[in-house]
This record gives sequence, C-alpha cells and structure tokens, in this order.
Amino acid sequence: MGQKAKRTKSGSAWMHEHVTDPYVKKAQLDGYRSRAAYKLLDIDKRDQLLRPGMTVVDLGAAPGSWCQVAVQKMKKQGRVLAIDLLPMAQLPGVESLEGDFTEPSALVWLEEKLKSGRVDLVLSDMAPNISGVMLTDQARHYELCELALDFAMAWLKPDGAFLVKVFQGVGFEDFRAQMRLAFKQVHIRKPEASRDRSTEVYLLGRNPLEIESAAHDSAVTSLQE
Ligand code: SAM
Repeated sequence: MGQKAKRTKSGSAWMHEHVTDPYVKKAQLDGYRSRAAYKLLDIDKRDQLLRPGMTVVDLGAAPGSWCQVAVQKMKKQGRVLAIDLLPMAQLPGVESLEGDFTEPSALVWLEEKLKSGRVDLVLSDMAPNISGVMLTDQARHYELCELALDFAMAWLKPDGAFLVKVFQGVGFEDFRAQMRLAFKQVHIRKPEASRDRSTEVYLLGRNPLEIESAAHDSAVTSLQE
C-alpha cells in the first residue's frame, strides 16, 4: 500500500474515532473547547488541585479547555497564565501568550506577569508535533517536560503542584526519577478520557522539596537586577 493510501486509511480511522468518541460529543454539549477538559476534570476530582484564588500556569494550553476548567473550578477568582505555540481564542480570566515555551521570551513573559509572586499549580499538557520517528518524538517530548519541571521548581509555592503529560516508554523512568527528586509525592494518573491504546499518562508532583524552591529566589533576583 502506498504512503498516500495508508495516510488516507489512518486519517479516516481517526475521523471515525473522533466523531464517535463520547468525550468529543460531551465536550460539544458542555461547551468545552476539547475533550481534554475531561482529563483535567477527572484528575481534579481525585486530587483536588484547583481552588478559588490560585495562580495557575497552563503550558501547551490551546485550544483552551484546561483553562476553561481552571477558571470554572476557581470560580473566576485567581489567575490563569497560558502559553501555546498556536493562537488561542481569548477566554475571560485567562492571560495568554502565543509563543514557544522553549524560547526565552516565553519565560520573560511569565516572569513579568508573575513578578515575585509564586504559583500554586503548573499544568503541562504540551505535546510536540509528531515526526513519526518514535525515539525522536519521545526525546522532544521529554525536553519539554524537563523545561516545564525546571519552571515549576523555580516558581511553585512550597505546597504547590505540577501536573505533566508524559508518554510511557523511552525516557519515562528517567523523568519519573527526576520528579521523585523534586517532589515529596509523585503520583501517576490515567484519566478515563485518556485513550486506552495511548501510552499517555500524567505525572502529578506535590509539595516541591525545599532545596529546589530556592531556585525561585535566585531567578527573581536575576530578573530584578
Ligand atoms: N490542554 C489543552 C486543552 O485542554 O485545550 C490541549 C493541549 S494539546 C494536547 C498540546 C498543545 O501543546 C498543542 O496546542 C501544542 O501547540 C502545544 N505545544 C507543543 N509544544 C509547545 C511549545 N514548545 N510551547 C508551547 N506550546 C507547545
């Protein structure tokens, strides 16, 4: 079978799955921008991550369903700072940047928004574009996860939390080990809306270890200098 025929077949399989997926339908009915909303809702139901008055940073936020969930759960009290490579339609209560989180400009934007305030929750649902070469894709993904972890360690409050999308396979155990060094508790979550056949899971780190949060003070000092 030629590449074009293969693509068409997998494209129509994807479309079939998409239109018959109960979470896609539910998202349309509930007014969420994507089915991903139910992943965060499910994790939040179990772990109670979102509360009014929080400061939340959402990395890889487009089209914006996690932001919608955050704003709702926070009862519109608090702040959501969102970044994505793709444009995202505005949402009340969300300050967003169309930009690449791996670029220094994204960090500058976040630092300017946060000033010296710390963050309660860092969310990263970032996923790079798939090249099809598994090892390359996994490596790119974990580069994003590590940057998000660095950001979380520099900016989280002592009782803060970091939720990050990862894919099991090459790199997973190394990254989980980094999470265990960084947080007092690390949990794996596989929300119901995450497709069974996907190796996607979420790692949740809670209570960053004291020693790491000192990084924040030096980051803020260097910004102020
Ligand atoms: N949580 C989102 C929601 O609920 O609507 C869905 C996120 S989607 C699965 C992953 C997103 O990560 C994509 O929109 C993609 O553009 C973004 N992304 C990938 N690499 C990125 C990067 N370097 N900087 C910012 N966003 C990135």
